[in-house]
Amino acid sequence: MIMPIRILGDPVLKTPAKPVESFDRSLGKLAGDMVETMYEAEGVGLAGPQVGLSLRVFVFDDGETGPMFMANPELSDGEGELTIDEGCLSIPGPYHPTSRFERVRCRGKDANGRTYEVEAEGLLARIFQHETDHLDGMLYIDRLDEEGRRAVLAELRQIELGLVEPRKRRHAPE
Ligand code: ZN
Repeated sequence: MIMPIRILGDPVLKTPAKPVESFDRSLGKLAGDMVETMYEAEGVGLAGPQVGLSLRVFVFDDGETGPMFMANPELSDGEGELTIDEGCLSIPGPYHPTSRFERVRCRGKDANGRTYEVEAEGLLARIFQHETDHLDGMLYIDRLDEEGRRAVLAELRQIELGLVEPRKRRHAPE
């Protein structure tokens, strides 16, 4: 089932999400629905709050991992720094250079409650940081300076007004 994606301005995007406590059948169904929604939107990641659920879960597929689900993620061992374009399905259209760790370790649980850990770099590392931010009520524009943030919001407004075309999706986390 495709779920509607919440857009900038929706309070759920600014709300820190709660940890998953029960790994039951409904969580497996949610994981499937989120993956379907992510693919339909041509994204590489999608977090609970983006579909209106204040729950610490996200799905991802960097093109190599295949569809994956993670609950209660914890990031550690961030190393290096990389500033490249980033976008967000909840801020549809604009992309902006955003600084992130180049490599990061992410540990969490699958839909059955089994713990797993991924050592990620490049796009996957960026996805983990972007999606974990969503669970803390943070968007990538909150990591930009005032000028960057203003540029993204101005572009978003122009797209909404039909004055400019949304940019083509690139390999950026959303
Ligand atoms: Zn996003």
